[in-house]
Order: sequence, then C-alpha cells, then structure tokens
Amino acid sequence: MANENKKPLALVTGGTRGIGAAIALKLAQDGFDLVINCLNDDELAQEISQQSIAACQSAGADVYALAWDVSDYAACEAAVEKITADRGNVDVLVNNAGITKDGLMLRMKPEQFQQVLNVNLNSAFYMSKLCAKGMTRQRSGKIINISSVAGVYGNAGQANYASSKAGLIGLTKTISKELGSRGITANAVAPGFIDTAMTQALPEKVVEAAKQGISLRRFGTVEDIAGVVAFLASPAADYITGQVLVVDGGLAM
Ligand code: NAD
Repeated sequence: MANENKKPLALVTGGTRGIGAAIALKLAQDGFDLVINCLNDDELAQEISQQSIAACQSAGADVYALAWDVSDYAACEAAVEKITADRGNVDVLVNNAGITKDGLMLRMKPEQFQQVLNVNLNSAFYMSKLCAKGMTRQRSGKIINISSVAGVYGNAGQANYASSKAGLIGLTKTISKELGSRGITANAVAPGFIDTAMTQALPEKVVEAAKQGISLRRFGTVEDIAGVVAFLASPAADYITGQVLVVDGGLAM
C-alpha cells in the first residue's frame, strides 16, 4: 500500500459489534491500523464496543474510534477530513453499518423505507465518494460493501432492506468500473443468515425453518464473514473487482 513506513489503514463502519467488530479484529490481526465507527458516543461507550476496540489494540492495531451517523453526508465529510488529517488516507473501506426495519411492503411507511435506504445504501455512496479521493491520489485502495442475500434474491418483509442491499451491489459494480483505472477495487460480500443481534431477534421457529434451507444446516458466524472480507482486503485479492461474494452456507432461496 501507499505509505511504506506505516501500516495500511482500514475503516470499518458499524465496527463495534457483530459482523463489523469481527471484521475489525481480523483486519487488526492481519496487520492493519483501524478506524472503527459506530452511530454515537453512547454506543461507543458501551462495554461491547470498548471490548471490541481493546481486542483490536491487543492484536497490535492503532485504533481510532470515532462515532458519527454514516447516513448524514456532512457528518461523513467531517469524519473523513479528521481521519485523513490525523491518520492519513484510508486504504481499505468496509461499508458495514446497516439496520433493518422490517414489514410487508403494503404496510411499510415511506419513512421506514427511506430510513433503511439512508443508513444502508446512501452511507456507502457517501463514504466511498469521500475515501476515494485519497485512494485516487495514492492510486490504490479497496472498497468492500456488506450487502446481503436479501439484495440478491429479495425477501418477503424486507422491501426496504433488500432494495438497499441490491443497491449496494449496483454501487459496487459501478465503483469498480469508474475507479479500476486508478488502482481501486470494489467488491461486495453478501452474507446469508449470520448469528448476530440482527438475527437473534428472530423467533425460534423461524430460525429452525431457516436452518433447514441451508446446505450446511447452521447459521454463519461473524468470523465466516470476517475471513472473506479480510481476503478481499488482502493483496491476494488485488485482481478481483466488481464481484459479489455470497457467503450463505448454501442457502436455498
Ligand atoms: P448489528 O446490528 O449487530 O451491527 C450494526 C452496526 O451498525 C452497529 O455497530 C451500529 O451502531 C451500526 N450502525 C447502525 N446505524 C448506523 C449509522 N447510522 N451510523 C453509523 N453506524 C451505524 O448488525 P450485524 O448483524 O453485525 O450486521 C452488519 C452488516 O451485515 C449490516 O450491514 C447487515 O445488513 C449485514 N448483514 C447481516 C446479516 C446477519 O444475518 N446478521 C446478514 C446479511 C447482511
């Protein structure tokens, strides 16, 4: 990467818990310094966030933990300016922050649709656009967007979420075409059912039924996703761009 005397810098949005925290830890273990984002200072102060940050530090990473709302363009702009001034260019951007607000399309309120689009999709456009400036200058960088199988296949009850995750795939492929000539890659990872707070909210019956539709008969772990993201962030994936890696244990949709 560009700065030869310093470790490459990875930024993980929503990186204090769940899949994001596992990605941050794996990248720390792989020799990255980190910017870890979450929504606000209250969440940053929570024990789970502090434990995630401490784990990355124990793995040898310099960790810059910063809370801002990634669905707010002005906040993203201020954050990227601060990060660039304090730590230099971002080498690897992982757009991981995401929310669900499920409901059947006929009953879904426009605000409910828009809010999920703002957090899951607009944020990735904002962060990619802002971080790509530095990546373009150094002529290297990797953007990894956390999509979902819901964006690949659609999912009843998730018109907002599936649209946002499908949009991320279009964004990823477009970035790969626009920025490939500058040495920047863009790829998406589409997880299936992963055991996190997001899926722990599902009723037991739904979980059991879902497992029957998975070839490996289990939900994925956060480490299953983190390993794939770390691969895409590594030099081993230098010639991969514009791809969607589905990591779902063989899910029948
Ligand atoms: P999670 O709810 O445990 O964590 C989400 C993180 O995003 C939190 O740290 C939260 O603070 C952060 N976040 C939410 N809104 C934010 C905002 N406006 N600004 C900044 N940060 C914000 O979720 P998870 O299960 O770890 O999921 C992580 C990603 O993986 C999401 O994009 C999700 O859609 C995707 N995903 C999850 C699953 C799954 O089964 N868990 C499956 C497919 C895709």
